[in-house]
Amino acid sequence: FEPKLDADCIFCKIINGDIPSYTIYEDDMVKAFLDISQGTPGHTLVIPKTHVPDIFAYDTDLASAVFARIPKIARAIKASDDRIIGMNIVNNNGAVAYQSVFHSHFHLIPRYSDKDDFR
Ligand code: 5GP
Ligand code: ZN
Repeated sequence: FEPKLDADCIFCKIINGDIPSYTIYEDDMVKAFLDISQGTPGHTLVIPKTHVPDIFAYDTDLASAVFARIPKIARAIKASDDRIIGMNIVNNNGAVAYQSVFHSHFHLIPRYSDKDDFR
């Protein structure tokens, strides 16, 4: 695995530590960190530690690595608060699909018991 970072990409800067982030999980292949704009508390972004702009640029090895790690990260977030009873996982590709940061990422958005959920 040869990671490639893009000097002009904000998520590459998060990977190399030039922009601070609140890390939820990290290994050689992926980083998970809190979204700066929390849709619900615990809203997390999972990114590959190599610069790929969108899902269309994944090869099978990268897809296997990133997708394989999402359930474990999702469980860790869910286990962090017993009010979390569900989760949306969202991946936007292209400006037309509301992608705003062009380093591929998956939104993990915890959903809370009705009394506490945000709508
Ligand atoms: P997109 O719209 O591309 O699917 O999502 C990009 C996400 O990145 C947004 O939810 C936005 O809040 C988040 N974001 C943008 N800049 C930063 C940043 O510098 N730090 C963190 N933690 N999140 C960011
Ligand atoms: Zn990048």
